[in-house]
Amino acid sequence: MAKKDITKRLHSKTLEIHGGGSLTDSEIRPGLYRVIAFSLGSFDRAQRLFSGTEEGFIYTRINNPTVDKLEKRLAVLEGAEAGLATSSGMAAIELIALHLAHSGGHIVASNRIYGGTFHLFRERLPALGIKVSFVENPFEEKSWVKAIQPNTKFLYVENPSNPILDIFDIKSLANLAHEHKLPLVVDNTLATPSLLQPIKLGADIVIHSLSKYMGDGEVIGGAILGKKRLIDEVRTGWFRDTGPCISPDNAAILCYHIESLFGRMKEHCRNASIIAKFLSRHPKVSRVFYPEYGDRKKINKRLMPKGFGGLMAFEVRGGLKKAKIVLESLKLFWHAANIGEARSLVIHPATTTHGQLTPKELKKAGISSGTIRLSVGREYFQDLVEDLAQALEKI
Ligand code: PLP
Repeated sequence: MAKKDITKRLHSKTLEIHGGGSLTDSEIRPGLYRVIAFSLGSFDRAQRLFSGTEEGFIYTRINNPTVDKLEKRLAVLEGAEAGLATSSGMAAIELIALHLAHSGGHIVASNRIYGGTFHLFRERLPALGIKVSFVENPFEEKSWVKAIQPNTKFLYVENPSNPILDIFDIKSLANLAHEHKLPLVVDNTLATPSLLQPIKLGADIVIHSLSKYMGDGEVIGGAILGKKRLIDEVRTGWFRDTGPCISPDNAAILCYHIESLFGRMKEHCRNASIIAKFLSRHPKVSRVFYPEYGDRKKINKRLMPKGFGGLMAFEVRGGLKKAKIVLESLKLFWHAANIGEARSLVIHPATTTHGQLTPKELKKAGISSGTIRLSVGREYFQDLVEDLAQALEKI
């Protein structure tokens, strides 16, 4: 007999395992439906499914039982009404932009965002008639207000930001957006719902690249979380007609990894904090970008009391030449363009992930030629510190 659904009363830590309805199912883990089309049943049911008067599975580009489990689990973890899983984080961002701002809309975005998002906003969306204004000081509310235009459709912020970990006040930004009758869209990839739930702070829509912490770096994917009505509209609109769906296999793998998200994030936070402390005291490092350091450390702690995650950056004295030596001397950190994996990773943002920004844009975004980004993994912290120490010795 199916158990009563008690998930509404459960702690998020429990929901990472049971969220999405698994307590009411006969299968104790989400089953893998590697299927494209589903039986429509009767003639009348087919008509109801296609007209949207009955909910059900039709075709995997639109929905699928395994993907549905992932979407429901993500929605529960973020405190959202519903979710839509996509083929990647970029697909999620593109979809929400097309849905909300197509046909001549305008977006106001923080300039502290992942390079790929920046390029989508600066090049691709304008080519489709969607204009984007970047806020150069996203900490300052009046800079946001100044950028809002009559055709603005939403405000966009990445929190914390990639690669220098700026943390924004989601509650205040949501209030500001709502004063202008606009939705606030938050890319919560780096925080994950284990550290921050933007919807509970007033944000309207949450975006994820699931290719980072959520899936422990194993599979690519993305998600949009928000009100059911919005999710339904995106699903039966741009999503259905352009096709950026996630595969059921990837959705099953993601469900599996999400079950350990809270514990993994704790380890990432602890290791990153230890490494930031080591780097902050190193004579060859001029600056550490981790929210526990700098002018905003007290505010950061108030905004993200559960921790800041595993991403960080630091600036090597001597610019690009010295940064190159450090990066190439590291033995334990893989040189790779990802974040949020078990293994520690390193990259030079100005020439790679953020290489599409002009020198002026890089400067405004706080990224210099000596900036090195670390995605701190879950290895034993002393091994990581020793590797960084020997690499910094080389300069
Ligand atoms: N958002 C953030 C914060 C990212 O760092 C990335 C990629 O690095 C993306 C979105 C894009 O995600 P994906 O690579 O899954 O398309």
